[in-house]
Amino acid sequence: MENQISGIHHITAIAGNAKRNLGFYTKVIGLRLVKKTVNFDDPHTYHFYYGNKNGAPGTILTFFPWESISAGRRGTRQVTEIGYSVPEGSLDFWLKRFEEHNVIYNKTAKKFGEQYLTFLDPDGLKFELTVPQKTDTRLPWETNDIDSEYAIRGFHNITITTADIKPTAYILTEIFGYQLMEQEVNRYRFITNSADNAAIVDMAEVPGEKAGHVAGGSVHHVAFRVRDEETLMAYREKIASLGLHITEKIDRNYFYSLYFREPGGVLFELATDNPGFSVDEPEEELGTHLKLPVQYESRRKEIEEVLPELG
Ligand code: ZN
Repeated sequence: MENQISGIHHITAIAGNAKRNLGFYTKVIGLRLVKKTVNFDDPHTYHFYYGNKNGAPGTILTFFPWESISAGRRGTRQVTEIGYSVPEGSLDFWLKRFEEHNVIYNKTAKKFGEQYLTFLDPDGLKFELTVPQKTDTRLPWETNDIDSEYAIRGFHNITITTADIKPTAYILTEIFGYQLMEQEVNRYRFITNSADNAAIVDMAEVPGEKAGHVAGGSVHHVAFRVRDEETLMAYREKIASLGLHITEKIDRNYFYSLYFREPGGVLFELATDNPGFSVDEPEEELGTHLKLPVQYESRRKEIEEVLPELG
């Protein structure tokens, strides 16, 4: 069990305006900013990490905000929906909140036996708030407006849109240890029993649909969770043995990573639980300082001057 993929680690998406992104995620939907850093490949761009109270893997949504990015388009070869879990009885609260904050949303619906509510973030990124069948015990972040009775717990599922589920399903079931749990028309639900939550990958099979375009308001990649670097490198071998290109191990400061494009076209990452977000600031101060990787620390003043205004 412990040498398996244990669900989703984080999801990374692309946003436009940084201040608008920060306001929406921390105020409107009440996530915790658990890390404020820069894009390691482009230090004049922020990298925001939002999560639950303790910044646990499986709750982390990250953004690169690029002020002048054009809008992406949902389609195949993409993660098209991000699903969060919320407590039973909270959907009415969220409907009212979306109405008050001019958030675009849809009426509640049901799939795979679970009630959910769809909404869009200010860049058009698509989400679902789902009441899971099993109570989610993860620690929520509470704000003045959103207490634990309603607060988002962390990821529940993602949806990958694809013209043909088979190539991606092969990776999920034969390499990652997921099982097909249920099918509803063209929707397939895969689940791993190696995680208590963030354990679901749904696929929507839409033959003939155009490939999506990754830009503003779309998911860049999804990272799956492994326990440590030893497990990470064991997966590297498994994936390379399929003839797929996979990167070397990359140090992301808060986790170690590998990236590969799965045969269905979605960029997958594998990321370790160690060392976690409290490696460079204490848990109670997560997200309150601008943290720079060591290679940029000597340029801090110049970087701080160029980064977009958040206040
Ligand atoms: Zn990532």
